[in-house]
Amino acid sequence: MGNISTNTDLNGHTALVTGASSGLGVRFAQVLAAAGARVVITARRAEKLAELEAEINGQGGTALAVSLDVTDLDKLGDFYETLREKDFMPDILVNNAGMNVDKAALDYAPEDFHQVLGTNLTAPFFLATEFARHHIAQGSAARIINIASVGGHKVLPGLTPYCASKAGIAMMTRGLAREWARANINVNAICPGYIETEINDFWWQTDGGKKQIASWPRRRLAGKEDLDGALLLLAGPQGSGMTGSTITVDDGQYI
Ligand code: NAD
Repeated sequence: MGNISTNTDLNGHTALVTGASSGLGVRFAQVLAAAGARVVITARRAEKLAELEAEINGQGGTALAVSLDVTDLDKLGDFYETLREKDFMPDILVNNAGMNVDKAALDYAPEDFHQVLGTNLTAPFFLATEFARHHIAQGSAARIINIASVGGHKVLPGLTPYCASKAGIAMMTRGLAREWARANINVNAICPGYIETEINDFWWQTDGGKKQIASWPRRRLAGKEDLDGALLLLAGPQGSGMTGSTITVDDGQYI
């Protein structure tokens, strides 16, 4: 109707998705590519990335796989430099790579804690700053989408360092949005509820996992596709007025 477009068209955009070797990262890359964006897919497992790269390129999209351990902070500048040289500098960053060390707080060693916070909070911060440095120098608009969690605002028992990292990324989202508002870099976060992926699939077949699912209003696990709408909103033109927001998508698990 008229000039109003209700579909998300990401043609002309390039999106970087970290942790794209499994789970939500694979889905985010597929969805962004389906909307027309070129996608740079990164993770540590090159063979998994190659499969996704071939799938997206085989379906008429454009994907470039680059191995990256997000905790190698010293390499992030060179990583973006390589993308610039290949003319694949992203203007959409999806900070998705994340992990948990599944131990009770009393069993945590300092290296476990550093690994969780380093992957889930420190790495997204420096991926964001190196990304923004480029766009601020160029005067170009850009989007950052941080993948937080309902654990950022609700205690998930037994996951304290993980929840602390996700609360941190939610606040980091607001702080960076404020700092870069005039640079037209929109920084937002999605807080997913529980979705079955490699990060948690061991749990859902256990009695505890089944009990947890039965306690949610819809008595089911959400699917990866449930995040498509929030992702496209924050990446696309309809989300241009959103910055510093966190969107919870939890299928009503924590109403
Ligand atoms: P997943 O384990 O399937 O995927 C995590 C990805 O991050 C994997 O590809 C993994 O290899 C990658 N990764 C981990 N450490 C890395 C590192 N150092 N360098 C590069 N890549 C690294 O889990 P997922 O559920 O797809 O998780 C994706 C994101 O969503 C995470 O940030 C997670 O915390 C968040 N999240 C997941 C859920 C859920 O229920 N699945 C809920 C809320 C938030």
